[in-house]
Amino acid sequence: MKIAILALQGAFIEHENILKKLGVDFLEIRQKKDALEDFDGLIIPGGESTTQGKLLHEFDIFDVLKEKIIKGLPVFGTCAGLILLAKEIENDDRVHFSTMDIIVKRNAYGRQLASFITNDKFNDKLVPMVFIRAPYISKVTKDCEVLAVVDGKIVAARENNQLVCAFHPELTSDYTVHKYFLSIVENYLNSNTK
Ligand code: GLN
Repeated sequence: MKIAILALQGAFIEHENILKKLGVDFLEIRQKKDALEDFDGLIIPGGESTTQGKLLHEFDIFDVLKEKIIKGLPVFGTCAGLILLAKEIENDDRVHFSTMDIIVKRNAYGRQLASFITNDKFNDKLVPMVFIRAPYISKVTKDCEVLAVVDGKIVAARENNQLVCAFHPELTSDYTVHKYFLSIVENYLNSNTK
């Protein structure tokens, strides 16, 4: 199994460190030739969604990755990565990959609560959650499974091959969410989709 990590901007090293600890092979996507490589899953890190969206086009990576996601490549978007996958951003006219049927709100917690840490359930297991100028999901469609709700707001969800969370599991030493993503990748490899 090999996981690609989008490494244009943001917290990609932290995801790499977790994959190293879990003994999973990975590659960084920095230019088009990386995106054309063969890999079994993709992580889109937190950071700044507008900047990452712009760089994806500048480096001509956008279409290659979008096509792979549409064809079923497992993808895991954290924070800005969640925003990049959403079909609609309620407080922004731009959309990016637009592959996941969710509506998100950017910087949704306002200035006072821009960053906070809490413990809450992800897929019924208590995990630490670090929120940094985080979005939340204001609407999911029936094909999405809600995996975490904090203070009444959806902060993690899955739609088939796509997993997103508004918080940063890569900034903690709890690997639950990464392991969940790797189980999606394993199912994908065991199915005939690839
Ligand atoms: N607020 C950022 C954005 O819109 C996301 C923040 C994050 O990834 N920590 O892109």
